[in-house]
Amino acid sequence: MEDSQAINALLRAELMELAGVASEGAATLEQTKALLAERPERFFIAVLDLNLPDAADGEVVDYVSQFDIPIIVLTGNLDTSARQRMRQDHLVDYVLKRNASEIDYVCNLVRQIRDNYRRKVLVVDDSRSFRLYLRGLLSVHKYQLLEAANGKQALQQLKANPDTVLVISDYNMPGMDGAELIEIIRRDHRREELAIIGISDRTKAQVSARLLKAGANDFITKPFEVEEFYCRVMQSVDMIARVCQIRNAARRDFLTGVYNRSYLYEQGEEMYARAKKSAAGLAVAMVDADHFKRINDRYGHQAGDAALVAIANSLQQSLGEACVVGRYGGEEFVCLLPGASESLAMQQFERVRAGIEALSIQNGGDSFQVTVSIGVTLDPGESLEQMITRADQGLYQAKAAGRNRVELN
Ligand code: GH3
Ligand code: MG
Ligand code: MG
Repeated sequence: MEDSQAINALLRAELMELAGVASEGAATLEQTKALLAERPERFFIAVLDLNLPDAADGEVVDYVSQFDIPIIVLTGNLDTSARQRMRQDHLVDYVLKRNASEIDYVCNLVRQIRDNYRRKVLVVDDSRSFRLYLRGLLSVHKYQLLEAANGKQALQQLKANPDTVLVISDYNMPGMDGAELIEIIRRDHRREELAIIGISDRTKAQVSARLLKAGANDFITKPFEVEEFYCRVMQSVDMIARVCQIRNAARRDFLTGVYNRSYLYEQGEEMYARAKKSAAGLAVAMVDADHFKRINDRYGHQAGDAALVAIANSLQQSLGEACVVGRYGGEEFVCLLPGASESLAMQQFERVRAGIEALSIQNGGDSFQVTVSIGVTLDPGESLEQMITRADQGLYQAKAAGRNRVELN
């Protein structure tokens, strides 16, 4: 809600562009009420101008607060009354309207809140009232909240919720103190995977250093400003999210999005070890596009790329979640299928082959077909490497026998 049409339009365009978030716009309190009259739950956040023509004194904030929607306030000036509001409403943050960089800031906030709905934060404190206070603050930002009253409970919670992204722990607790807890957590969780914020008392200066040395990413001293608390929490969570994104990118093949060769081996070795231990069986397949040079020659390299993407998607889709698909080389893919018998594996890869043959790859206004040959092995041999070599021999047989077929070796 923003009465300047220019800012309203710019903000909404950028929300879509930078955060992938669809929005609805309003310029007055009346329009805001109309928007919220129907299915208010379709909004996960509101960005509100404090001064609208028919609501000059922030009434729109009071109105939207009823709907349990987190709010970001846009304001022309930041006086203390605006800061005061931060404590009483569903306010995520307030942003000064000065220049275009504020728009980026708002978009980033919106994206964070959207992602927070599936981010778990664990609060550890023996004081129930302080846990409740933190719960209140964190729920404004829509995190999924977990609680523990002592170190032991905290470790249990982490075990049950390995996808936790942030732990906020007090230092002063009976039994295990905050620093001891952090040291134990750090045995299994690295700084880049799980952020920890320690809370210490302002009166004990040396505690902050202890928390950091124990492995905390950051600390806050009590009592704190709400604004500072939110900043530190957001920074920690954002750091974890960025590392996760980078790691994910480093594991995947840039063109096709399936695992790259090095991560394929990393996952493959684990799968191989598990299969050996349980004797559950593992099928390894080498998939190679037929006469791919001709496809490049005939339709161009870009069309060839599109064919590789289509092949990769098809492999991933027809094999499903339990399988690992990686790009082994140029037009070669390796698939690992755990727990399958020989007949089941052959059936699966026959389906894969037929699925790829049925693809129609778009090229300008035209389309073309592509086929693959597949070599499969279930012989565990001595190593994953040996299985891949055997699958490759199967592939060679499939090529020799006329291509567009599956051979077991
Ligand atoms: P065969 O049926 O015997 O496998 O024939 P082929 O032509 O597919 O085999 P060959 O190994 O001779 O050629 C592979 C071709 O794949 C050559 C190469 O230019 C192409 N290729 C490899 N990586 C890419 C890629 O990333 N994009 C595109 N467009 N082509 C690629
Ligand atoms: Mg080929
Ligand atoms: Mg090849």
